[in-house]
Amino acid sequence: MVSNSFLWKRTLSRRATMAAAFFLAGAISLPPRMAAQAPPLRVAVPKAAKAPARPKLIVLLVVDQMRADYVDKFLGQWTGGLRRLVEDGAWFRDAAYPYAATETCVGHATISTGAFPATHGMVANAWWDRKDQKMVTCTADPDPKVKNVGYAGATPQGADTAWRMAVPSFAEELKFQTSGATRVVTFSLKARVAITMAGHKADAATWFDGGAWVTSSVYGTQPFIEEQAKSHPPKADFGKTWALSLPGKAYWYDEKALGAVPPAGWELTFPHPLRGKSGAGEPDPDFYTQWASSPYADTALTELAEKAIDSLNLGKAAGTDFLAIGYSSVDYVGHAFGPRSHEIQDILVRLDRDLGNLFAHLDSKVGRGNYVVALSADHGVVPTPEDMQTTGADAGLLRLPELRERMEKALAAFKYPKPAVASVSGSDIYFAPGVYDKLQHDHAAMQAVLNAALDQPGVAAVYRAEELQNRPATQSPTLRAFAYSYFAGRSGDLFILPKPYWFLDSTPVGKQRSYGTGHGVPYNYDQHVPVLLMGFGILPGQYFHPVTPADIAPTFAALCGITLSSRDGHILSEALKKPGAERTAPQAANARGTANP
Ligand SMILES: [Zn+2]
Repeated sequence: MVSNSFLWKRTLSRRATMAAAFFLAGAISLPPRMAAQAPPLRVAVPKAAKAPARPKLIVLLVVDQMRADYVDKFLGQWTGGLRRLVEDGAWFRDAAYPYAATETCVGHATISTGAFPATHGMVANAWWDRKDQKMVTCTADPDPKVKNVGYAGATPQGADTAWRMAVPSFAEELKFQTSGATRVVTFSLKARVAITMAGHKADAATWFDGGAWVTSSVYGTQPFIEEQAKSHPPKADFGKTWALSLPGKAYWYDEKALGAVPPAGWELTFPHPLRGKSGAGEPDPDFYTQWASSPYADTALTELAEKAIDSLNLGKAAGTDFLAIGYSSVDYVGHAFGPRSHEIQDILVRLDRDLGNLFAHLDSKVGRGNYVVALSADHGVVPTPEDMQTTGADAGLLRLPELRERMEKALAAFKYPKPAVASVSGSDIYFAPGVYDKLQHDHAAMQAVLNAALDQPGVAAVYRAEELQNRPATQSPTLRAFAYSYFAGRSGDLFILPKPYWFLDSTPVGKQRSYGTGHGVPYNYDQHVPVLLMGFGILPGQYFHPVTPADIAPTFAALCGITLSSRDGHILSEALKKPGAERTAPQAANARGTANP
């Protein structure tokens, strides 16, 4: 066997010989006068190979449902970590998902892998399983050997893993391709977030379920999480109140968010008490919903991350460690109160403080400049239809149960079995076994069912699976967005594109909807999210060319010297320091300030 170091030396010496030959040939072919003017030739002498410096710790922060414009609007009110990311980091102003399925599992898997859902296969939070004829979540694992495991004596239900994620995460690749010294630790309130950010295996992937911190048997359990779960359990926040943290005049929009549906036990105005059902003397399910919808949950996740840094000495070992936090509460608040609410503004003020504390902790324990941070979001959110309608614009609820009824009626006329539609899950429509195959050869029935869907108020277009397969080249940005989301076998048979500001609503006919608003479509309000990078190897400034959150993992990979399987994302090269960048700073022209090495 030839050792790697021998091959490397041989390659170097061959390169040096080739370089010398090139310079020599050039000198000979030049006319004498030009040769005299040419600068003195210097044959590059290979120096001893020095490994490039690597970050000691990768920190990935994903704020669930954070719209990009929150940064533009509220930056002036931030003094902590969010402000530091903007001022000391690289701020990508035109970052957006290019695909249609702007949902949580999809966004986190995209950030984690650097791939689009057509590659990583996490096409939604949940989809219709054609084989088992039932809905499955993106992390549900049918393997009987796998089960979820609770901290502090909790006994969680189910079994969740990343087995459906078709490519490894960046964190997994980092551990696999380096010396293996990498520790991978993730936290979130949601299983589909902690799991997709970590990957198929990890030292710890922890989420919140039924009032307790839990993990899965495929991941490690950590004594420091057990200790934190026992000493500072979420129920210790019972009886606290979420009150506005800035003076009243600092808040945009109306005090009561139009179209809001607050969690049980809360009014449309502050303060919001964390006391569960009115009169409950101890934590109940309503309390945990309130807690998850409050800044206290973000603080609990930050404290867990700080414990991880201390207990595992993250950023102090031989390899590059990986720490990810999925902040879920902005999503719960946004679903309840919408983007134009005091609640969204206030929870971001509180998150800014938490992130300021986290960065101060990292500075003291890992060292400023030794770690690199990326912050992004998994999707944005649309204003509540009631709020949007006040502008006079066309906005509303696209009622999916009604649409399903119309399609059934259309197919009944062609003697199709009832029900012909097996499931309507967000944009994706799944037919009963055999129905779609038959429809593809039954032009009249296909046209009738497409027309029925198009008749539903709020529908802009309906796409067929065969239009989306194999990522067709197309001029239509919405067709392309659905193609980027299409994964054969998991995605639907037909796909509903709503009109802009029409929200896909699954509420059964005759029932009140249980949330203010949502997300999940290929429009900018759902696709446009922040991408901010700061720390090791990052050239600060503002960058205005279009990028996607799938570019974060390839950029991390470049900093760590590893290779990812997917080519969907690209290295954010203009925000990476190059040799000599501190002198020439080519980005200074479009950067906000001076490049700060
Ligand atoms: Zn989400």
